[in-house]
Amino acid sequence: MQIDGVFVFIGYVPNSDGLENILKLNDNKEIIVDSEMKTEIPGVFAAGDSIAKKYRQITTAVADGTIAALSAAEYLRN
Ligand SMILES: Cc1cc2nc3c(=O)[nH]c(=O)nc-3n(C[C@H](O)[C@H](O)[C@H](O)COP(=O)(O)OP(=O)(O)OC[C@H]3O[C@@H](n4cnc5c(N)ncnc54)[C@H](O)[C@@H]3O)c2cc1C
Repeated sequence: MQIDGVFVFIGYVPNSDGLENILKLNDNKEIIVDSEMKTEIPGVFAAGDSIAKKYRQITTAVADGTIAALSAAEYLRN
């Protein structure tokens, strides 16, 4: 078959194996965080496609990462 390129569909289940006994995950194995990207464990943050949210795009992942980094910095300051 002559083609110019391929987008591989990798599915929607995040690679969170091993976290189920550590962090709170939803039924889709996504990490549950609050609006500041905090997990239920103080000092542990999550962002991007691994978290429970509706829209998964580069822009939302970058925004999550910014919030998680600022939250982590605040956590360390306090
Ligand atoms: C085919 C496809 C097309 C897409 N098209 C678009 C688009 O056009 N526009 C758009 O905005 N978004 C698009 N997206 C969505 C976008 O790519 C994601 O929302 C974004 O990349 C999520 O960023 P992330 O950093 O959370 O995760 P990722 O970009 O997936 O990065 C996670 C990284 O963690 C690494 N990793 C995984 N497990 C481990 C581990 N145990 N230890 C260490 N490292 C690990 C992975 O190798 C990877 O490098 C597309 C996604 C796919 C799959």
